[in-house]
Amino acid sequence: MDKKFFSEKCNLSNYTTIKVGGVAEYFAEPRSIEEFSYLIKWANLNNQKWQIIGAGSNLLINNIFIKGLVVCTKKMKSLTIDPYSGFVEAEAGVMLPTLSNSLAKNGLQGGEWAVGIPGTLGGAIYMNAGTGNLSLAKNLISVKVINNKTHEKLEIKKKDINFEYRYSSFQINNLAIISAKLHFEPNGNLEQLIQTTKNNLKLKTETQPYHLPSFGSVFKNPTNNFAAKLIDDLGLKGFKIGGAEISTMHSNFIINNYSASSKDIYDLITSIQQKVLQKKGIYLQPEVRMVGFDYSN
Ligand SMILES: Cc1cc2nc3c(=O)[nH]c(=O)nc-3n(C[C@H](O)[C@H](O)[C@H](O)COP(=O)(O)OP(=O)(O)OC[C@H]3O[C@@H](n4cnc5c(N)ncnc54)[C@H](O)[C@@H]3O)c2cc1C
Repeated sequence: MDKKFFSEKCNLSNYTTIKVGGVAEYFAEPRSIEEFSYLIKWANLNNQKWQIIGAGSNLLINNIFIKGLVVCTKKMKSLTIDPYSGFVEAEAGVMLPTLSNSLAKNGLQGGEWAVGIPGTLGGAIYMNAGTGNLSLAKNLISVKVINNKTHEKLEIKKKDINFEYRYSSFQINNLAIISAKLHFEPNGNLEQLIQTTKNNLKLKTETQPYHLPSFGSVFKNPTNNFAAKLIDDLGLKGFKIGGAEISTMHSNFIINNYSASSKDIYDLITSIQQKVLQKKGIYLQPEVRMVGFDYSN
């Protein structure tokens, strides 16, 4: 493959928000859908395993050599907004804060909540990221993907995608998301939308450890319960393994105090699971996606 499309032996810790990660055999940051499809085709034709990362804000990557190609979508960031109709078309790498702020500035209502989620659109669709009852699924029209075998581009309508709490059918079909079409309510009050968006970000930064490396909520909330409350009840705030620590600000966040290894973080996750299971009889399922560990979610 043409050298300019990818690098070799890339340290992925720079591409995750928790600042740990392994070394990818091949690594690429395509700038367009064409480059992206070319890379997937190359990997398939050469029997190379490939995987996608967005902003790496929900990822724990083990500190190992990761064979094959890792494609980061962050540079695929074309965003088209029609302020009159409310229709939006965005590539997978568009960051949610950018989307949220751009919607507000264009008088489009419905994306104000997304400003505090430091992930890409592709990652948000894959994870069905959200807050409270809100997620992008509400505003989604369709998602464009690449078929793994034929390499054709397909458009999947929302009705054919299964979205549940922090789950989408993309977590099992392994399709590569390249772009999405969305619709938001036009003609909103500009000043109000911008203010609400600002307030939402302020609220997040005041209640969650945004200033430190983390990957957001570690565990999904169990039915009729809150992971943070269960962890808090056991007095685990501030509990550490190596450089990984349960945030004193929000018990469902693990922070890296800049010296954590992937293993420290993984061990802290399993230790919390064991303690909560023993004391409360509840299994906490990680929301964070694990790469290169025995655990698979
Ligand atoms: C400070 C902080 C606050 C957060 N707050 C929230 C919150 O309020 N709500 C919430 O839901 N989450 C939150 N998160 C978690 C995270 O931001 C979201 O899950 C986000 O949607 C992940 O997007 P990403 O681009 O970073 O995906 P990544 O972490 O890079 O990847 C996550 C998964 O998506 C897959 N993926 C990514 N892009 C694609 C693609 N184009 N095609 C196919 N698969 C893809 C990856 O393979 C991986 O399995 C927070 C994280 C942080 C660090």
